[in-house]
Formats: sequence, structure tokens, C-alpha cells
Amino acid sequence: MTERRSATERRALLPFLVGASLLAAGVSQAAGPTEAEVASASARITAASALATVEVLAAPGMAGRLSGTDGYRKAADHVVSELRKAGLRPPLDLPDHRQAFTHGLAGIEAASLTLLPAEGEKDGTPYEAEVLKDWSPMVNGGSGDVTAEVVFVGYGFDAASEGRDDYAGVDVKRKVVLVLRGEPEGREWKDHRSTVARTKAAARKGAAGLLLIDSPVTSTSVGISRDLPEAMVSEAFADRLLAGKKLTVAELRKVLSKGGLASFETGSRLRFQVKGRPWREVTTHNVVALLPGSDPSVKGEYVVVGAHLDHIGDWPRLNPGADDNASGSASLLEVARAAAALKSRPRRTIAFVFFAAEELGLLGAEHFASHPPKGLEKCVAVLNMDMLGAGNGLYVAGGENFPEIRAAMEGARDRLAPGFGLKSGRIRGEGRADHAPFFEKGIHAVSLFAMGGDHHGYHSPDDTVYFVTPKTMESGARTVFGAAVALADAKP
Ligand SMILES: [Zn+2]
Repeated sequence: MTERRSATERRALLPFLVGASLLAAGVSQAAGPTEAEVASASARITAASALATVEVLAAPGMAGRLSGTDGYRKAADHVVSELRKAGLRPPLDLPDHRQAFTHGLAGIEAASLTLLPAEGEKDGTPYEAEVLKDWSPMVNGGSGDVTAEVVFVGYGFDAASEGRDDYAGVDVKRKVVLVLRGEPEGREWKDHRSTVARTKAAARKGAAGLLLIDSPVTSTSVGISRDLPEAMVSEAFADRLLAGKKLTVAELRKVLSKGGLASFETGSRLRFQVKGRPWREVTTHNVVALLPGSDPSVKGEYVVVGAHLDHIGDWPRLNPGADDNASGSASLLEVARAAAALKSRPRRTIAFVFFAAEELGLLGAEHFASHPPKGLEKCVAVLNMDMLGAGNGLYVAGGENFPEIRAAMEGARDRLAPGFGLKSGRIRGEGRADHAPFFEKGIHAVSLFAMGGDHHGYHSPDDTVYFVTPKTMESGARTVFGAAVALADAKP
């Protein structure tokens, strides 16, 4: 029906048109939200409200929201109660909004790394390495107490049959190996470049510990190996270990990246001690709420708007995770509240999902993607928000892959958050955010990261509410809200 027809014509046509659409859709169906309705619901998303949620989630009582712990449960309780207040519904088979699954968890009781004076060196003093500056143990890695020499073994690949053996010519038995993160240029070393593969190789060769040269932030992955105690060490600390050989990491990287080999005893000795907690199986929950689709013929189709609610816990001190990812969770809650306030619902369902255990290896998103709740039949798009706490725009990882998502984001930005930045990139898999398990199943899934700001204190106790810029969440959430409604209401 066009605007030019007269009122009389419209009245005359009405019974026919309703009848035709009844036939087409199978059932009668109300129109989706108008632009004005979307704009007015979007205006309820505010920086102040988002910041208030970040303050709750990043508070000491939440203990860094490590999945499977009490702190995480408190965060989930808060989110569930806010979703109920907003009037959103749970999926049919998850009446309390919680989707349970289990994962392993260990944690650390004590850890230390001490650089010892060289053998024969008189009146040398040991140097106690500082956690998060010089080094950081893998939170769910293995335990051990080793006093040993350090052997540098390049990238730590045990792949002689593929033409690279970083262990050739050196004996690492009962020693600590020092390895460089990354891989030589020219080809992919998929089976060898993961921390698990490097640790397994070191264990096979008889090493007693592994140090990976990488920024020493807190790593909680449960996918890493428990064969050996392992840790990340800063490049500066690694340079100290190499100083006796008058070499630096930068020099070695140059040689190794071109495919060269460099494996040698460093002459440095250290004591490396990690006491882990017993490995146990714990229960955790994704939190899910729905805005049911209004069109019975496509309401089984759904758009996921997601964010991970978990963080890395409180070792060695509280990690508030304000940016990572209280900011994304707060933005998601804003989007959910705005959606609940819409006068008319989009054709398809929108699922608001707070993922658990992202920091342990994307486990919550993987669980949801493999076990969508009842009534959710076909996922048409995933908009995952990760670290919206600082900046003046969003980077859309996957926007280049999925033009309809890119267009929905740009349209929503123009209408609801003009001036906010958007930049799209291409993804190929092996993603490190919660879109990845969906993407691997062939679903059009993107992750959204704030850009143009300083993500201060990533994976450290410095990721606090004081560095969060609330307007980033407001503009980001308004854009995501508009895009989610547009994707959910697109013509079948
Ligand atoms: Zn993180």
C-alpha cells in the first residue's frame, strides 16, 4: 500500500490486503516496530545506566566473576533479576533464565619465580620476579617446584617430520625451557603453535617447566596442558635470562621468524614454583532472555545479542574486569531493556545471551551454539559485544564477511548514534571471542570491540571502572539495539 492512495481506496482495499497477507503468512500478523518506536526505545539506553551496571559487576563482591565460582553466580543472579524486572521472558525449557553446563577448574594457591645467581658467582643476590610485570603463571596449568637451568628452544616445535625441530642438539631433561610465542613466516604451524602443543612437546622431551615469552597477563584457559608448570614471562625478563649469552629476544626473533633455528643453554638458573588447587568439575550458567518474534512463520528464527559475563577471577588480586567484559554485559542489559520497551515486536525472536566461561576458552558460547534452548530453531545472526568500555566507535570483526550485518549496523548507527565510528574487518575462524563457535557452524556471527580508546589494564587488576568511558557503551548499545531489531524484523 502506497501513501498516494486515498483514504477511501485504502478502506476498500483493506479486507483484500489483510486476506492476502493472511494467506501469505499463514496467520495474521502485526507490523514490526516503526523507526519512531525504535528511536524512542533506543533513547532509554543511557551512559549512566550502563555505568551503574559496570559498577555492580566490577565490585569486589563479584570477585572477578570467574566462571564456576560464587562471584560469577552473583553476577548471574544480578543479571537475571534485572531481566525479570524488564519483563523479558525466559526460554520455555529454562524457566529461571539459566542454562547450566560444567567445566574443569583448578586455580592457583601459590606461585613464585626466582632468578638465581649464576653458578660460581660470588655474593650474587636472587631476584624475585614480580607477578604481572615480569611473569604470570597459567592459572589452570600444572604444578611443580623446580630449581633448574634455563634452555632456550626457539618456538618450541617438536616437528622434525615437518622440517622443524627446535629441540635438536639440546638436552632439556629436568630443565626449564624458554620459548618464543608465534611461528616462522611462510607457512601455518597449526598443530604446533598452541600453548598446549608447546607444553606437550616440552613434556615429551623431559623438561620440568615451560616459560612462554609473551605479555605476562593473567591467563585462565582450561584448554592448556597440565603436564608441567608453565608461565608467561615478559620480554624484558626473558632478556635478563639471555643476558649471559649477550643476546636479546628481539635479535632471536629476527632469526627465528625467517625460519632459522636457535636453541642453546642460557646459563641462567631459576626456581620456578606453582602450587595449583585440585582440579575439579564445576557447574556454571549462561543467562538467556527472549523477545519472542511476532510472526509465527519465522519466530523460530532468532538473532543472538551476546556478551560474556565472566572474567578471570581474583588471583593474585581482584581483577574487576570493568572493560572486559562488564562493559559488554552492561551494554547487553541496556539493549535487552530497550527491546522490552518496544511497542511492537520484530518478526523474529531476539535472544539476549550472557555467556559464561569465555575466559576459559569460549565454553559458554560453544555450549549455547551446540544446545540452543527450546523454540530457537535457526540462528540468523550473532552480534557479540566484547570490551565496549573505552573508545569512540566499534570494530565489527566479521562485518566484511556478512554485508547484511554491516549494513544493519551502519543504518542503526546513522539513525541512533550519529558520529559514532564503525569499522568492519574480515574473520577467517580461530577467533578469540564468543562469535567464533557460531561462525564455525556457518552462522553469520560478528564480535564488536570498542576502538579508538585505551583498553587500560587488560587482564590485570588495573581494569577498573575508573578507565571506562560510559558514552562508548551508550552509543555502542544503541547501535547494536537498532541493528538487532533490523535483522530480526527483515522481510522473510
Ligand atoms: Zn578477557
